[in-house]
Amino acid sequence: AAYQRVDLRELLNSTLTMLKRKFGPGVTVKTVYDESLPPVPVYAAELNQVWTNLIVNALYAMDGSGTLTIRTARVNDQAMVEIADTGCGIPEENIDRIFTPFFTTKPVGQGTGLGLDISWRIVADRHGGDIKVESLPGDTRFQVLLPLAEASR
Ligand code: ADP
Ligand code: MG
Repeated sequence: AAYQRVDLRELLNSTLTMLKRKFGPGVTVKTVYDESLPPVPVYAAELNQVWTNLIVNALYAMDGSGTLTIRTARVNDQAMVEIADTGCGIPEENIDRIFTPFFTTKPVGQGTGLGLDISWRIVADRHGGDIKVESLPGDTRFQVLLPLAEASR
């Protein structure tokens, strides 16, 4: 698949459209896009999988009601995509393990525990980026950082 500069708003909007039927009536989706963010060189199809993993996790954590907020911003020489939810949160004792392959707190058959492992590899290994997570009950934020093209730094 091609590595090319993409408008992250378009990429995120197309992921949201694809997932629309998974959002129940109790879930509000907000997008807050930094209009000045330059296009970012990415493997679009792979990042689509990352947004999908993060959004599906967020929906599960909210269990039918809450707010999903998707934000983009420029942070120094990186583009930042934040996927935030108002769900149950990640207990402190789990936070260092969630990126480990097969780590899941979901019932058998509902989670493979591979979503964050794969997402991490796509962001870090394929794009030279990073994923940060902060979580409190009712406020969980996954921040995906992607290096901007040299020309837009
Ligand atoms: P899976 O979704 O198959 O369990 P993931 O790798 O996607 O595997 O996530 C691993 C675990 O991280 C989840 O089982 C859950 O405990 C925790 N987790 C991930 N995202 C969230 C979130 N937004 N809110 C609460 N817990 C989360
Ligand atoms: Mg998952």
